[in-house]
Order: sequence, then C-alpha cells, then structure tokens
Amino acid sequence: MDERRRRLVEDLNDAIEGELRVDRVALAAYSTDASLYEIEPLAVVFPRATRDVEILAAYSADNNIPLIARGAGSGLAGSAIGSGIVIDFSRHMNQVLSISADRVRVQPGVLREQLNNQLREHDRYFAPDPSNSRICTLGGMLGVDAAGAHAVRIGSARDHVFSMECVLSGGQRMELGRESLATRNPTTHATSLDRDSAVILSESPLKDNLQLSAMTSMTRRTHLIQQVTQILRENAELIRELQPPLLRNCCGYLLRGILQGEQLDLSRMLVGSEGTLALFTEATLFTMLLPKHRSAAILMFGSMDSAIQAMQLILPLEPSACDLLDRRLLSLGRGADQRFRDLILPDAEAGLIIEFPGSHEREVRQRLDDAQRLLKDRQIHFQLTRQASTYDEVEMLWALPSRVVSLLASLKGVSRPLPFVEDVAVPPDQLAEFLLAAQRVFQKHEVTATLYSHAASGQLHFRPIIPVPNRGDETAMEAIARDLYRKVWEFGGTITGEHGDGLSRTAFIRTQYGALYRTFQQIKEVFDPQRLMNPDKIISNDPSLTVKHLRRTRPLGKETVAAPSGPLLPVMQLEWTAEQATEAAVRCNGCGICRINVNPLRMCPFSESNGEEEVSPRAKANVVRNSLCSDSMQEILTQEDTTRLLESCFNCKQCQLECPSEVNIPHLLIEARAQHVQAHGLSKTAWLLSRVHSYSRMASRISFLTNQLLNNGLFRRILQRFTGISARRRLPKFTQTPFLETKRVTRADNSGAPGSTKPTVVYFVDYFANNHDPELAEAFVRILEHNGYRVFIPPAQTVCGMAMFVNGDLTAARALAEQNIRELVEPAREGYPIVCTEPTAALCLSQEYPMMVASDDAEIVAQQTIDAGAFLAGLHRKGQLKQDFAPLPIRVAWHTPCHVNALRRGTPMLELLALIPELTVQTIDKGCTGMAGTFGIAAANFEKSIAIGAELIREMQTIDVIAGVTDCSSCRMQMEQAATIPTIHPIKLLALSYGLMPRLAERLKAKPGGLVMS
Ligand SMILES: Cc1cc2nc3c(=O)[nH]c(=O)nc-3n(C[C@H](O)[C@H](O)[C@H](O)COP(=O)(O)OP(=O)(O)OC[C@H]3O[C@@H](n4cnc5c(N)ncnc54)[C@H](O)[C@@H]3O)c2cc1C
Ligand code: SF4
Ligand code: SF4
Repeated sequence: MDERRRRLVEDLNDAIEGELRVDRVALAAYSTDASLYEIEPLAVVFPRATRDVEILAAYSADNNIPLIARGAGSGLAGSAIGSGIVIDFSRHMNQVLSISADRVRVQPGVLREQLNNQLREHDRYFAPDPSNSRICTLGGMLGVDAAGAHAVRIGSARDHVFSMECVLSGGQRMELGRESLATRNPTTHATSLDRDSAVILSESPLKDNLQLSAMTSMTRRTHLIQQVTQILRENAELIRELQPPLLRNCCGYLLRGILQGEQLDLSRMLVGSEGTLALFTEATLFTMLLPKHRSAAILMFGSMDSAIQAMQLILPLEPSACDLLDRRLLSLGRGADQRFRDLILPDAEAGLIIEFPGSHEREVRQRLDDAQRLLKDRQIHFQLTRQASTYDEVEMLWALPSRVVSLLASLKGVSRPLPFVEDVAVPPDQLAEFLLAAQRVFQKHEVTATLYSHAASGQLHFRPIIPVPNRGDETAMEAIARDLYRKVWEFGGTITGEHGDGLSRTAFIRTQYGALYRTFQQIKEVFDPQRLMNPDKIISNDPSLTVKHLRRTRPLGKETVAAPSGPLLPVMQLEWTAEQATEAAVRCNGCGICRINVNPLRMCPFSESNGEEEVSPRAKANVVRNSLCSDSMQEILTQEDTTRLLESCFNCKQCQLECPSEVNIPHLLIEARAQHVQAHGLSKTAWLLSRVHSYSRMASRISFLTNQLLNNGLFRRILQRFTGISARRRLPKFTQTPFLETKRVTRADNSGAPGSTKPTVVYFVDYFANNHDPELAEAFVRILEHNGYRVFIPPAQTVCGMAMFVNGDLTAARALAEQNIRELVEPAREGYPIVCTEPTAALCLSQEYPMMVASDDAEIVAQQTIDAGAFLAGLHRKGQLKQDFAPLPIRVAWHTPCHVNALRRGTPMLELLALIPELTVQTIDKGCTGMAGTFGIAAANFEKSIAIGAELIREMQTIDVIAGVTDCSSCRMQMEQAATIPTIHPIKLLALSYGLMPRLAERLKAKPGGLVMS
C-alpha cells in the first residue's frame, strides 16, 4: 500500500461510520464507469450518513484530496471517475425518506425505478425517464440532469427538484433550493464578506491562509448566495446571449433563468453540475400524477428521410415523446426479443415511436389517429406495426429503445459503435437539416454511426463505429468530435443534452460558450475554491481530456522471448491467448446492468445477496482487464483481496446471458482463478470436494454405513472439521452399486459400434446419477429404448470435471476432459448425439472442454453434446416422441437451473412435462438456488449459499405441491435443504407416466430429513 493510502486509512477509518477501501479490487472496480475512460482512484468510500460526507469534505479541503461523487457509475461521459476519493452513495445512502402529497425526500443512492415502484402505490412518479432507469441513482440523475424520451413534455431532472441538502468542499452542510433574496441586502453583506470574496474570486485556488473547513455552514451559505447572485447579475447579458434556451442542454453550468428578480434557484443550477460544485446528500423532489391515459404507436419507414419528414409533421401535434431509431437499432431489436420481432419490419430503414398523453382513452386514441391521418394526407409511406394504450403495452414499446441502446455494445468486430459524441442536441426544427450535416461529417471521416434520437426535444444519440481506442494510441475520436461539434454550434445546438460533459466533452465547453466560460469558472470558485470537487469535469484547462484517460484495452507485453525488452505476454491457463482474454474483458462497456439483480433478469447471485459493486460482473471484468493490461498480472490476481473477488463466482453464467455485450465473465474468472491456483495451489476443501468421485466408490461399497454416518450430527461435525464439508448441508445418500457398474453398462451389447438398425444415443451419466441416483440413469435409458433408440453408455467415462474447472484446477480438470473425450469422440464422429441428464455435464462438455483442450476431438464432442431435455423435446417437435403418457394427477413445483438457461435451448423439460396428462406444474421463479455444484457444500460458503437461495428455500417449505422438480442435481440439494417434500428429476416423471418404472411413484413420497436428502 502506498504512503498516501496508508495515511488515508489511518486518518479516516475510525472517523467515518462507512467503509473506506484502498485495495486493488476496489480501486480497479471504481476506476471506470460506462464511459471509455479509466482513472485509478486514491480510495473508495461508502458513506453511511451525511455526517461521513461532511467529514470527507472537510478532510479533502484540509489535505487537498479530490472527491468524486458516484451513483451507479452508468454515466457515459466519464464524469464519475477520478484520481481522488470516490464516494459511492449507492451502497448505504439509498433510502426513500418520506413521501408526501406531491413531493418525496430521498437519499442520493436511491434507484429511479426503486423510487417509482414506491410512488406507483400513490399513483405518482418521478417523471424524468432515462432509458436505464432500472439501475441509475437519483444522485447520478441530478448529477447530470438526466432526461429521457418524454423530456419534451416533462423536462429533465432539474425541472423536478424542490431543494437539495448539499455538502460543500470544506464540509459545510446546507439545504439549497429557491432562495428569496428579498430579505437580504446583497451590498451590505458583500462589504462584510469582502476579505473572503476577494480570495474566492481570485484566479488561483484558495491559499492555505484561509482554511475552508473552519467556516461555519451559516457563513458559507450566506457567502455563497451573495457571490452567486453577484456573478449572475454581473453576467446577465452574457448568459442571455451565450446560453440559448434549448429544450435539452446540460453542457457547462445552467445559469440561464437561475436568478429571476429576487429569486435565486440554486438547486436548479446545481443539478447537472456533475459533482463539481457540491455533494448531494438528500433531495426533495416533486412527483407527478401518473398519466391517466397514454397511447403509443410504432411506425416503420422505408427510408430515414420519410421518418424525419413524418417526425416533423408530428411534432406540432405535441406528442409526449417521438423517438427515432435507425436501421441498425431496429435490426438489433428484431434479433433481441421475439416481442420486438413482430414490431419491426425486416426491411425497415427507420422507425418512430410516438406517444400522446390525455385524460380519456378516446382522446389519446384520437390524437394517434390524427397523427396517422396527417402522414397519409401528406403521402408519407409508413406502416404502423403496433398501437398500444394500456400501461403494459405502452411500456413494452418503450422497452425497445431501452433494450437496443444497451445492445449497441454487443456488436462484434474491431470497430464498434462508441459513445463519445453520443449526446448532441439541436433545436427540433433544425433536426432534419442537421442530420444531413452530421452525415457529411461522418462521411469525411469515413465512418458510419448509429442513431437514436429523442426527436421531439432535438436530442441525438450518435455512436460512430470506430476501432476501440487504447490509451496512448492514435484515434479519430477528437477529430470526429471537433468536426461534429462545429456543426452542432452552427445549428445553435449543444454538445450534450442529457449525459453531461465528463471527460469526453469538457475540453470543448470553452469553445461552445466563449466568454461565458469565465463565468462558469467564477461559479466554480465560489463553491469549490480549491478545485477538489470532481476535478477536470466541466472546469479544466487540459485540452487533451477527450483522449488522455482512455481505458487500456490491449494486454501489456510482447509475444515472444525474442522480443528485445519489456514484459512478455502472460501465459494463459485456458485455451485462449492474452489478446483474446483481454478482448473478452474489453467487451464490458460498464453499462452497470449487472450491478443489480431484480426480476425479470437473473443476474449475478453475488450481486443480489450483498449488492456490492466489487463483486459485480462489471468489477470482475475490470479487475481481469486491469491485470492483463498491466505488467504485474500474477501479482494482481494473487493478492488476497483479489482472491475474495475470484471466490465470488461459481460459473452459473447468468451474467453472460443477461449482459447486452455477452461478456464472458465466467471464463475470465476461471482464467484468473487458474492463475491463482498455478501460483498457490488449491485449498484443501476445494481439492477434496472436486475429487468426491474418486472416493465415492468406497463410500458406495459400504453405503449402509456411509449413509448412516452422513445423517449423524457428530460424524458430520468431525467431517466438517477435517474436510470443510458443511455439517449443516443435507447430502445425497450413496447408492450401493454405481450405475456405471451395473449390468446395463457392463453387458456385452452395450456398444456404440456402427451398423445398428436402431438410431443410437450415447449417454453421458456424470457423477450424481452414477453415485447417488442410478434410478434416474435407468429411467432415462428406458425412455430412450421405449422410443426406439439403442443407448450406448461408454463404460470408461468419468465425471465431467466441472468442479475442478470452476475451482481453476485446470491440470486435473483437463485430465478428466481428455479421458472423456477419448471415450466419446468415436461415437461422436459417427454422428451420435451425446446426451446428458445433468445440465452441468452438458454445459461442461459443450462449452468448457474446448477451453481446456485444444483439439478437433474436443470440438467434435462439444458439438455432439446435448442435454436430455433438449434431445427429447427435439424428438417431440419432430413428432418422433411416443405420446403414450398415462395421467399423473399430481401437483409439482418446477425450478429452472442456471445451467439450463446457459445451454440456451429454453426450458425443454417444461415442454415435456406439459405432455403428461393431469400433471400440474407450478413454476418457481426465484433465481439461482445458490448451490452451484460443490459451492454450497463447503462449510465456508454455506451461509452465502443459503442467503442466495433463501427465497426458493422458503417457497419449497410452504408451496402446496407434492414434490419439487428440476433437472440439476445441485439445485435439487438446495430445494430439499429445508423442505419436507422431495425434489426429483423430470425424467423420472416421464418414465413414471410412460409406465416404464412404476416404483418411481414411491420417490414422490420419500421425504428428506435430518442431514440427508430424500
Ligand atoms: C445504456 C445506457 C442508457 C442511458 N440512457 C440515458 C438516458 O436515456 N438519459 C440520460 O439522461 N442518461 C442516460 N444514460 C446515462 C446515465 O446512465 C444517466 O445519466 C444516469 O442518470 C447516471 O446515473 P448514475 O447513478 O449512474 O450516476 P453516475 O454515473 O454514478 O454519476 C453521474 C454524475 O453524477 C454525479 N453524482 C452522482 N451522485 C452524486 C451526488 N450524490 N452528489 C453530486 N453529484 C453526484 C457524479 O459525480 C457524476 O458526475 C444512459 C447510460 C447507459 C449506460
Ligand atoms: S458485464 Fe455486461 S452488463 Fe455488466 S457492466 Fe459489463 S457490459 Fe454491462
Ligand atoms: S458466472 Fe454467475 S456467479 Fe459468476 S459472475 Fe457471472 S453471474 Fe456471477
């Protein structure tokens, strides 16, 4: 730890109630946001209350340390990163404090969606609607003056603020809102404050002789109001002239309209100040009645020109929103979701989503009809693909832009749509002409750009498609920005309408505002004379900010030992190169969607259980990228704090599925863990648990004794002591004869030899069915045979090795993979499907083997592997599955395992269960069970595992069914952990219904109990 950080810890750790972090993981996690930039902070603090913020602000002023406020870090301009102390308000200061008739008092870390969920009960909402409302915080929204599609009617964040509690540099806390100047006498006060004023308005930062933290809040407040008033009065003409009244503008400080007669609207000015003037610790916001009726429609056009013409005709009809999407966004939408596929014509070049509000349903429909009639009268060709008037339908239409904007980051290739000029705004009536001019700029630079526009307010989100930049390398970013911004200014527009200036635009503010920039500097000096509040944002003399802090996106090091000097590229443990791994990590654009885990997404279970940024998939991508791009990868990945991060992933793969860029976090983490294991070896528990298969044979031989011991508390405590296997976990009983040792497998006609008249299936049994549930294996074989298949069960197959793979024990995992590949590759070459009843095994063979073993054989095995559900459902869809199912008049509860999702074939087992007459299946939708293979068996993880699976465990205790059903053996363990009913594999229900194994009816009556499963 460096000296500055050590001092910080000494000085602040005990002084604040919240936490202070200076370790590698926290620093890497907070060195980026959703922008293209990266700056390592000095420290990260999670304040628990305003008092902490006051202490930090006083300490910062006394010790000249910058402070950077942060919410969800979803800003695109790089305004929530910096080299000082990052203050994350989202961790603890996230409460809605009170709700009154038309106002709400909140802490800054509250999520916009969280607030609106609460307000909906009162028929009200906080209106500004950025498209990432689910994750952005109110502090961040106020920080950038966020707005959204409906800005033309409802304005932006600053139009909805009554007052804010602020902490200023120096530590003074004060409520700032609409200040009445009528009772003050500015001139008299100014005289009494002459000494301070002189210093504050000086060119240079405050000198040591005035200690800011020594001022009282009252003095500071009076002083501030005086000074701001004076500056606004003196510069009134300049402001009027140089800050035009645009519908959307958050470039620089908003000074226009702040001083009106004897009213000084300080909160309005502070909104959009990007943490450069004050830290917001609470805010009173106005709420609005939810619109009584809305009607929206999506229109498709054959050309961008006709969409723009249509938009210009519609705008005078005063829609509450009119958004324009280009061809690329539409095709992303079509590919993203079946719901959108129906809305978007495959050959559409542009689309408009329009919305009208009203007090009656008839009225809103009429307004929509009027708009259509107008377009038809003017002979604009369009096709209305969906009209919506209920709340859910309208929201579904708005889900389209929200989804596709995130998906832009998923476009693959060296060049990608990048957000650096993504937020210009022009007067709406200039939009069509400006688009042509912008097009010419992009042509000049030989780039294309994606376009999404809140056309009604003149807001344009362009993303030029250029190579992903790397710090220090040539990039066209600045040149494109300069040329585009020139056009923006020619059209009377602004370089940022709703995302703020941050690092991407600060260098251009001076040119946009000319002489008014000096006034911004004066305002900054009043609030922050030492320039410690989010330095280099809005106010800066550095002309290179747009590219100076770009992220590092290439691994540091050279490929060969022959390279003359410098570090070598790190040796990778998985079958990819350092460049490929870095490329995977760089795909994370920091959007922050993975920070939280709320329905309908099934995001990282670790984020869900403790909401920490440092264990979010975003942080994981950052830490691994950081280590790959530095010259000390091993050192970073093997630090103790990094180890904790590495342990917060069990390869459930949900982040990869939900992430718009499909960032391969699971493999990045396994690579990192493998590097760690390479350096330090495996823990004893991980070693033992991943090798259960090697001593299970012995356990089976004496299963009568083993199973009694497993249910004995004293024995289990001793077992925990020596092995780390939790004494509280209900474990599966061992079978006397493992399935792979039964006659079914050992008999001579168990063969995959070509030439059979029947179609052949290769069955990969895996650990659980072999050692604990051979009935499942038998049931599956009988189902296949019943459907006319020959089943080949390779006798020398072993466990898939997922437990070792997840732990980063790659040498051992690779040995198992090679053995299985040897066993499976010949039948795979024959074209036989390799079918797994364990979804994890299917995943391991199909997705992990090629990352462990670089051979064609591994690829062939991967391609032929399929899970049992998908295989049987495939037969059913082809009309080849026998339908002689007998009724099962029972009720069961279904859980979808994460690894079934990860296989990306839907939930085929549910389709199959639907074939059983009279079977009622109730779906439990409670996310990950938290069991994750051997993770939940280890005593060290037991509490966390139970916490992640808490809702599901509770549901299994209360639900009115006779059994749980799932195809993952690990999930099954968690479902039975506290339940009094069994959980069984769906294959068994199918076999029972087919009448192939009547004894399985008994399984539905078996009860888990004590320390063992049913
Ligand atoms: C996919 C995607 C879509 C987006 N869509 C929109 C959109 O439609 N409209 C829109 O306006 N923006 C949009 N954004 C940009 C951004 O997410 C929003 O502006 C959002 O409001 C930022 O909130 P946050 O909590 O992430 O703030 P952060 O990014 O953490 O911070 C934003 C700024 O606010 C400051 N800040 C944060 N908390 C405080 C505080 N307590 N006191 C003082 N300053 C503070 C920070 O210093 C920083 O300058 C989008 C971003 C993404 C990734
Ligand atoms: S991992 Fe994906 S969802 Fe998470 S921040 Fe990165 S891009 Fe966004
Ligand atoms: S694989 Fe699962 S546990 Fe790991 S980071 Fe992704 S969501 Fe979290």
